Amino acid sequence: MKGVFEEDKVAAAGKLIANAGRIVISTHKSPDGDAVGSSLALALYLKKCTAAEVFVVVPDAYPDFLSWIPGQEIVLIMDDAPDRVAELISTADVIFTLDYNSLKRCGDVGPLLENVDCEMIMIDHHQAPESYARVTFSDVSSCSTAQMVYQFIESRGDVALIDNEIAQGIYCGIMTDTGSFRFPSVSPYTHQIAARLIENGLDHSAIHRAVYDTNLEDRLKLLGYALSQKLDVYQDLRTAVITLTAEELKAHHHRQGDTEGLVNYALSIKGINLAVFIREGNNNTRMSFRSKGQFNVNEFARAHFNGGGHNNAAGGMSEESVEQTYERLRAILPDYRNQLDYE
Ligand code: MN
Repeated sequence: MKGVFEEDKVAAAGKLIANAGRIVISTHKSPDGDAVGSSLALALYLKKCTAAEVFVVVPDAYPDFLSWIPGQEIVLIMDDAPDRVAELISTADVIFTLDYNSLKRCGDVGPLLENVDCEMIMIDHHQAPESYARVTFSDVSSCSTAQMVYQFIESRGDVALIDNEIAQGIYCGIMTDTGSFRFPSVSPYTHQIAARLIENGLDHSAIHRAVYDTNLEDRLKLLGYALSQKLDVYQDLRTAVITLTAEELKAHHHRQGDTEGLVNYALSIKGINLAVFIREGNNNTRMSFRSKGQFNVNEFARAHFNGGGHNNAAGGMSEESVEQTYERLRAILPDYRNQLDYE
């Protein structure tokens, strides 16, 4: 199960790591369970197998339900400590870019990365990787970057170094990016990794509880409101859409991460092949696309909404208001009527 982790590339990455005094791991804006889990797992592993100082840099804060992942103390948030982040990046010997493949995806950290002299190593599973890295591990068939981090460690013959803390980050990344092991991207290998982690003492049930069973009342009420008042179903187009304005989010004391997974409720409706969630962000309108089966939301988001991602899960954004964005979506959808019509 080597996949993209070919011997010569792993050796090239190994050489960069072995000679580094300072390693910085960076991940994408609005970090999710895979971004944080894979970054911290890799960081803790690198601390064990190298003499380097290791830091994790994120563009902005992540939700509370990820704050239990071991290794938090080495995370720096660009929004909180821009000078320190700039200093770390400019003095790094190696920079990893995890769970993203375009420097545009990491907010204010991106321009800093564009100007570095040091070598970069990419580990990522999104489509269409850019070519900025000295060593690129890109596998669009992989369910998660966390799985690729496991594979990277495995390909270096270091599985024995995966302790309980590293295991927690890896499991969290796989679990959150696969909707708890249910998306088509899950392979036998994914379950083999989970099995090995659990055999070695990982409390997988505690991780599910920490991520999924820690809702605040406000979040559930926002979910109830979105589903009862803001869900539009177009059975003829096999599409369901949820929209939320900043005012509505504020009325429910919205906290970061509260709308995570909301779009999946729309997708779960019988007969629906495409679900779209549109919400007002700080400076723009943000979109999430999910599909069941063959409809490619990566292409759809790229073509119309300045986004991209995977075949069945993608993001996008718009400079227009929520209502204008929704109107544009409604105008485009009939062109896809045939493509969306399948069982
Ligand atoms: Mn991911």
